[in-house]
Amino acid sequence: MLKDKKIPELLVPANNLNILKYAVNYGADAVYVGGKEFNLRSIRGNFSIEELEEGVRYAHKYGVKLYFTLNSIVYDHELARFREYLNKLKSINLDGIIVSDFGALELAKEILPDRRIHISTQTNINNHLGVNFFEKLGANRVNLAREINFSDLKNIIDRTNVEIEIFIHGALCISYSGRCMLSKYMTGRDANRGECAHSCRWKYYLMEEERANLFFPVEQDRRGTYIYNSRDLCLLPELKLLVDIGVDAFKIEGRIKTENYVSLTTWVYRRALDYIAQNKFTDQKISYLTRELDKCSHRNFTSGFMFLKDRSELEDNDNVGYIKKYRFIGIYHDFSNKYNGPIINVKNQFKVGEVIDILQPYKNPKKIMVGKMISVSDNTETDCANPNDLVIICDLGRLSPFSIFRIKG
Ligand code: SF4
Repeated sequence: MLKDKKIPELLVPANNLNILKYAVNYGADAVYVGGKEFNLRSIRGNFSIEELEEGVRYAHKYGVKLYFTLNSIVYDHELARFREYLNKLKSINLDGIIVSDFGALELAKEILPDRRIHISTQTNINNHLGVNFFEKLGANRVNLAREINFSDLKNIIDRTNVEIEIFIHGALCISYSGRCMLSKYMTGRDANRGECAHSCRWKYYLMEEERANLFFPVEQDRRGTYIYNSRDLCLLPELKLLVDIGVDAFKIEGRIKTENYVSLTTWVYRRALDYIAQNKFTDQKISYLTRELDKCSHRNFTSGFMFLKDRSELEDNDNVGYIKKYRFIGIYHDFSNKYNGPIINVKNQFKVGEVIDILQPYKNPKKIMVGKMISVSDNTETDCANPNDLVIICDLGRLSPFSIFRIKG
């Protein structure tokens, strides 16, 4: 039996309180964040206990849920510290805890018995028996392995009762999530402890063992080859199929991403789900939304394992790094009554005479040409805005406080 058809929860990442506010304002149904310990994005950002309290208050004010990620491996000698950390979370009104480690699951149930438990994709659940097993252990939701295909996903949904969540957008691992030792082996940075160095995306050569200084390119292009270099997941074109089979939650990857990425991906998938709810998710709308996704840097897209016909669809052998069609040039800071325009916190250079593209929550993006511009620091007219400047674009009128500014090229 298929579960009742419904619009899945849109679940969005946030690396700090500021980005959480963008996620909420751009239409997330739920936001997932990590703390300073035991989460898989430990390199920068993340929430202190105080920030978490504020984040919950902010999200709940707008009817958005907040899930807390504790999906790192926990070693035996860390259990006391993990217990202590969970105790600190008792007073915070989190909507759920995301775990992957069995010991962490056990302690979360004991110390936070009234919180929902979500099982992380790191646990690698690939079949309905695995989902049912975790239901018996107390899970309310399972984020399936990214490596499952559509037919298995449908089967799993038909044979389980707990909520099913999948990743729909963002970076992919070339190995099974949670089973990669490459980064730890090559750099000492453990991917399963939130420190991945992304070694899979480095440039590799073939070397014969007795000719240590002779490197043979494994031909793909003149720079060498990138045999482990995965494309980015984008399931936007197939979103309706996934809604129709009853997936409960769609998750966007990217807990170290900027306001630009979080705002744009949330805007795109919010709109896609709204179109699906209104039966308006046409090919034309899909093309339009895909073009919008291009305004944030990304690797070439793939539909991943879900609809895979050929393994080559997963890898990028002729392109390394990001496709950057647009530059992120700033965020809204305030409004200037005197100059009737937004004050922009500048992230990258732009100039008078250039056409900029503005993204705002729940509105169509709009393009404007920068006419007169005022530098806030000395209240004088300027032709060029540089990173960290505050500038006013005169006579543009009011924009949303969460506007994002981009420029082509
Ligand atoms: S090295 Fe690559 S495949 Fe391994 S965990 Fe990191 S991103 Fe994933």
